Amino acid sequence: MIERLGAPLVEPIFDELAIVGVGLIGSSIARAARRRNAARRIVVADHSVAVLERAKALGLGDVVTDDPARAVRSADCVILCVPVGAYAAVGRAIAPALRPGTIVSDVGSVKSAVISALEAALPGHARLAPAHPVAGTEQSGPDAGFASLFVNRWCILTPPEGADEQAVAKVRAFWEALGSHVEIMGAAHHDLVLAITSHVPHLIAYNIVGTAADLEEVTRSEVIKFSAGGFRDFTRIAASDPTMWRDVFLHNRDAVLEMLGRFSEDLTALQRMIRRGDGDGLFALFTRTRAIRLGIVAEGQETAAPDFGRRAAETDEPVT
Ligand code: NAP
Repeated sequence: MIERLGAPLVEPIFDELAIVGVGLIGSSIARAARRRNAARRIVVADHSVAVLERAKALGLGDVVTDDPARAVRSADCVILCVPVGAYAAVGRAIAPALRPGTIVSDVGSVKSAVISALEAALPGHARLAPAHPVAGTEQSGPDAGFASLFVNRWCILTPPEGADEQAVAKVRAFWEALGSHVEIMGAAHHDLVLAITSHVPHLIAYNIVGTAADLEEVTRSEVIKFSAGGFRDFTRIAASDPTMWRDVFLHNRDAVLEMLGRFSEDLTALQRMIRRGDGDGLFALFTRTRAIRLGIVAEGQETAAPDFGRRAAETDEPVT
């Protein structure tokens, strides 16, 4: 499956787009917005000197700065792309510099906590329109980004009560320009859905890879040697950014614990089936789960390629 961005827009959606945090997601937005002409000017900010140097070398912004307040002062849209735990501090840093009416959006993987943090930090004249692109890889940093990351992926908008409809419509148009399908839902519902589709799967991967890592040395070398038996696929997810995922679990605690409770109950049921030799029960479950996988492939969210189907999408794009 080759994912391609459309032709450049005749009229950009934003005059000046500020991106705070220019890692995997921020740099992919910068690349895609540039390619699609979705913003006339792009300003990128980050607190890491090394990241800023790479952002300059990769040409990710018309302006590259370490000062988030400077980055947003003439923007008509700001997108926060920092780990969820940094939202409150970044929100406070940009608040005094925001012009009245500036749209403030984000990409955070958790929404209720992010909205609370930003509502507390931002001035009333900012127009908050949160978003979560359900797209990513296990890599991080500006070199890991690519322009087609969001093509044919879902982006969920979670406007808080009383959100400015025009701001939400512009953010929707922006994500559609980047190739995404857009869905709108409440923040609490988002957090519950993503807990089971993303957060708990990551926790399971971190756990199983951690368990294997704790095995005795001789067994561990065999784990690596024979990893194609299934373990390898968990290691890809468990290689995801530690800061980002620490923050996800700390900020979506209730929904994750709720889904983890259900997962544990189902795991206990599976344990019982194995102990009792209930082959019919196991077969019925595995048949149901295989159908879910086929449904995801049929919806174009994955290919049937045995490598997660990611290679084709990634290699289609040049690095910058
Ligand atoms: P990333 O590649 O690590 O990029 C985050 C960037 O933000 C890093 O360059 C980081 O610098 C910088 N940063 C951290 N704190 C900052 C601060 N206070 N001020 C300025 N810059 C700061 O992470 P990412 O994968 O792009 O994730 C960014 C956001 O996207 C997160 O909120 C995450 O939940 C969301 N998201 C991620 C994915 C995914 O699959 N990765 C998918 C959807 C949404 P340092 O590394 O030097 O701290």
